[in-house]
Amino acid sequence: QSQELSEAQIDYHAALQALVENGTRMVCTGRMHTDRICRFESLCYSTEAEEFVYFHSNSSVMLPNLGSRRFQPALLDLSSVEDHNTQYFNFVELPAAALKFMPKPVFVPDVALIANRFNPDNLMHVFHDDLLPIYYTMQQFSDLDLEARLFFMEGWSEGVHFDLYKLLSNKQPLLREELKTLGRLLCFTKSYVGLSKITTWYQYGFVQPQGPKANILVSGNEIRQFTKFMMQKLNISLEESSSEEYIVVFSRTINRLILNEAELILALAQEFQMKTISVSLEEHSFSDIVRLISNASMLVSMHGAQLVMSLFLPRGATVVELFPYAINPEHYTPYKTLATLPGMDLHYIAWQNTDREDTVAYPDRPWDQGGIAHLDKAEQERIIKSTEVPRHLCCRNPEWLFRAYQDTKVNIPSLIHTIRQTVKSKPGPKRQKWSGSLYPGKVRDAKCQASVQGTSEAKLAVSWQIPWNLRYLKVREVKYEVWIQEQGENTYMPYILSHQNHTFSENIKPFTIYLVWIRCIFNKNLLGPFADVLLCST
Ligand code: UDP
Repeated sequence: QSQELSEAQIDYHAALQALVENGTRMVCTGRMHTDRICRFESLCYSTEAEEFVYFHSNSSVMLPNLGSRRFQPALLDLSSVEDHNTQYFNFVELPAAALKFMPKPVFVPDVALIANRFNPDNLMHVFHDDLLPIYYTMQQFSDLDLEARLFFMEGWSEGVHFDLYKLLSNKQPLLREELKTLGRLLCFTKSYVGLSKITTWYQYGFVQPQGPKANILVSGNEIRQFTKFMMQKLNISLEESSSEEYIVVFSRTINRLILNEAELILALAQEFQMKTISVSLEEHSFSDIVRLISNASMLVSMHGAQLVMSLFLPRGATVVELFPYAINPEHYTPYKTLATLPGMDLHYIAWQNTDREDTVAYPDRPWDQGGIAHLDKAEQERIIKSTEVPRHLCCRNPEWLFRAYQDTKVNIPSLIHTIRQTVKSKPGPKRQKWSGSLYPGKVRDAKCQASVQGTSEAKLAVSWQIPWNLRYLKVREVKYEVWIQEQGENTYMPYILSHQNHTFSENIKPFTIYLVWIRCIFNKNLLGPFADVLLCST
């Protein structure tokens, strides 16, 4: 590996002098350790101590300068999983003068992105926690381009999906163990530490039962930009005018099996009059799976990490997720959340085996494959009798593992019935043109005119102009929402209107001040911002 680093020429003497004189320079984004990414010049790493080192000099910079709050609990999360206490990043500090007594630094010339992979053996984790966050962290900082180098510090070996990580940059990613072969003290000329969490949509249940993240910030558009990049790197071209429509059954071959898979494939083919093919991670190359999924009309699979591949489905396609007995689909929704992200344009269907006759459990397997023989008899019996796994925290709940690793004989009529409730005719994909939803701007030039009739009646004539961006858009339906609020009251009267003016007379009192709030609505649910409030005195 060491010849790799020396490929890019670096003036060793100048680099060393810069380190000694300038020390380490750090400037970070983010206010909390959970949303922080730091950019460093001359961040070093001792492969013996397995610690990052910050060198102080007269020119060093440390922003934020947190003092000992840097340890409460850490400077930042090194993986994209929020606030996980095995994934924290920090450094130890030394004066630059200490370099005189230390091993000769080896400089890393490439711009580095330093991060932890969370669980590189599980495909869901690979995409959700690592690949998407790395890709969009690289988009955030322009010098993290294809010539940047990834450094994975979590300590795992390459793992089965390492080829996917290699697609993100032209340089071979380096693992923590490999750093030892490069030298005793590594100094990164320029580096970024930490990963953006902006694309993640799921929390795995470390502090509360698993579920969608509270504030999802990613849409199907960004997901597809990423998959387009991955497909280019994999040399897979999107066949725009695909000839034949087909269904993909993504099967598992080791555990959580579909026991009547042949029967299932036949039934799907017959019901939807489509070719139906089966793929698995064991029997197909990753590229082949992506190629097949990216043109499929429907993806059918047992709940499990392989379903993250619905990332690659074309818009309009349908995801059918099968759940084993006693597993409530509503409680395990990483793939449902993905499929239903705004703009993902996938149809999502969950089916659960509700028939005990159709499940095959493995109580005698090791605990991590769902065995329960190690539990006391009463607990084993309770689990076996239970009809639903209660909500639980990650990651070793034996009842969950027991149910999750059951095999299932899929009740075909029940499954077809469930799919048919959503897919009425033929399943997608309908390659729609871009249907990104655009929001209206503020309405403009809002005015009101009050008139009083006698002592008890009054009218408010309110008018406004269309939002500025509407002139340039084709919008199916434009409506306006107007709230009339009497000053000092905390309730208001809401109206939905089609025109740009309206005279309100209902419940309008003379000699009263009204606040009038107006916003535009496109296509029923795209709510624009309120214009500045209008003050109207009758
Ligand atoms: N896996 C697989 N075939 C199998 C069982 C598992 O390809 O028969 C893969 C699975 O897709 C995931 C990894 O092995 O990437 C770990 O699977 P596990 O059952 O632990 O996780 P889950 O799928 O429940 O997230």
